[in-house]
Amino acid sequence: MRTEYDAAVIGAGLLGCFAARELVRYGLHTVVLEEREDICTGISRANSAIVYTGCDTKPGTIKTEMCVRANRGFDDLCRELGVRFSRCGSLMICFGSGGLEVLKKKYDQGLKNGVQGIRMLGPEETYEMEPHLASGIMASLYAEGTGTVLPWELCCAAAENAAANGAEFRFDSRVTGVTRSAGEYTIRTTSGDIRTRSVIDCAGLFADEIQEMLFEPTVRLFPKRGDYYVLDTKAQGYISHVIFHEPEDKKKSDEFDKGGDKGLTLVPTVEGNILVGPSNMPADDKRSRATERDGFELLDRRISEVVPDLPMRHMIRSFSSLRPNPFNVELSGGGYVRSGKSISNFTIMEPGGDPSFLSFIGIKTPGMTCAQQLGRYAAEKLAAYFGAEEDPRFDPVRSAPVRMADLPLSERDAIIKTRPDYGRIVCRCRGVSEGEIIDAIKSVPGAVTADGIKRRTGAGGGRCQGGFCTQKTIEILARELGCRPEDITKDGCGSYILTGGETDA
Ligand SMILES: Cc1cc2nc3c(=O)[nH]c(=O)nc-3n(C[C@H](O)[C@H](O)[C@H](O)COP(=O)(O)OP(=O)(O)OC[C@H]3O[C@@H](n4cnc5c(N)ncnc54)[C@H](O)[C@@H]3O)c2cc1C
Repeated sequence: MRTEYDAAVIGAGLLGCFAARELVRYGLHTVVLEEREDICTGISRANSAIVYTGCDTKPGTIKTEMCVRANRGFDDLCRELGVRFSRCGSLMICFGSGGLEVLKKKYDQGLKNGVQGIRMLGPEETYEMEPHLASGIMASLYAEGTGTVLPWELCCAAAENAAANGAEFRFDSRVTGVTRSAGEYTIRTTSGDIRTRSVIDCAGLFADEIQEMLFEPTVRLFPKRGDYYVLDTKAQGYISHVIFHEPEDKKKSDEFDKGGDKGLTLVPTVEGNILVGPSNMPADDKRSRATERDGFELLDRRISEVVPDLPMRHMIRSFSSLRPNPFNVELSGGGYVRSGKSISNFTIMEPGGDPSFLSFIGIKTPGMTCAQQLGRYAAEKLAAYFGAEEDPRFDPVRSAPVRMADLPLSERDAIIKTRPDYGRIVCRCRGVSEGEIIDAIKSVPGAVTADGIKRRTGAGGGRCQGGFCTQKTIEILARELGCRPEDITKDGCGSYILTGGETDA
């Protein structure tokens, strides 16, 4: 293992994995330092899964430019990386004149931003497209380019492609300090020090803390919680577009400290689930993953207004995510305090005055949509800084893993003849085989936890939520990794599933 690199990326979420993929495109020796045991365990594991068009953001900003460009290229990106993508389109609906104003603003904004395929629709056309929406809709904004992708599938694909092109991933490597001398950075981690010519700070909710290891505070992150429901595939078909409903009285709903209402979003995912959320509640612990009743009460109210007969009996899971809201900070009374409003544009910083230290601080929605664009931005900046050229050996293609449930029976039969483990079904809800789980463990970077298997194969993500297959998944993980079943965790951080074991008695 090297200890000297051209680029060290801190954080293996969507931004870090795409940054690594784009850096190796220029032949730069790249290492990704991740404090957890796997990729995609932070914000990137829990978002709304929407590929945005660029209607929602102000014209002329880097966020808008990246979003519009990213959306146009998303089919190609997903084809290249073997990732499932559904361009299902979206309807933003309104029930009153306040909401209509918001829709018109977004429509005009979309036109200015060069978004294609957007139209204002009346109630009749809206109900034709989505018959289950509540009555009383005044209008909707249709965006045919909106899509949906599984964030963890996208992240795994980017990481695998980066690794296949030479990026090194170091897990259980929490960055605890950064120093600079003679134009080179030394990064201290819990798995040893490394030296690097550049640092790309993609540490999500902790990106401000990484930057402050070397520079004075200027921007800090303040979290807000988003709670979600997931409905089983039995509810598939209830909606077929992404549905947005924003609060019609924006002024009342925008008080940062109180949290409150961001409206309701429903997403028909590529796996046939319906994602419902997110709330927008106050939060103070950046490491918390807890869902809270107040968030769900808000969602329930919104559901009753927007989709009153949503089949909630098919709810199989709830989860939460934290938004990393960036604010400028200033010194006051011996400490740094928030000043002004939350920064809405992407905050990309070069605190040392050159791109050798680049921070992505507080990249919120549409950060997943723009992950490749942000990675490319970092790589182009560094390539220009180092005078690096694109490496002709870079291969952007990553083959999709075998997904038995998606194959016709004849193909399954042929595959099972060469690899019988593809015929042993482990997850009955999703039809995931032992062979797919073994592939996920052997992929680079590979799964080491039950949730790592779920992110890569879907096993444990169906109606029983792992009730039937987790035990078998643990056995396979332990066998392939050469450890005891008791050593396997659900999701790292001490989340052991089995305790005790056999006694001599
Ligand atoms: C509620 C919500 C909904 C969203 N919905 C959408 C959407 O529908 N569409 C869209 O385009 N975008 C969406 N986004 C935005 C998108 O999810 C994020 O922009 C993106 O996931 C950010 O990824 P990241 O890599 O910056 O952060 P993360 O995924 O959090 O990755 C950061 C990584 O850094 C690691 N790390 C932290 N500190 C250290 C350290 N000291 N040393 C080493 N590693 C460290 C963490 O463990 C983590 O793995 C949403 C965001 C939220 C919060």
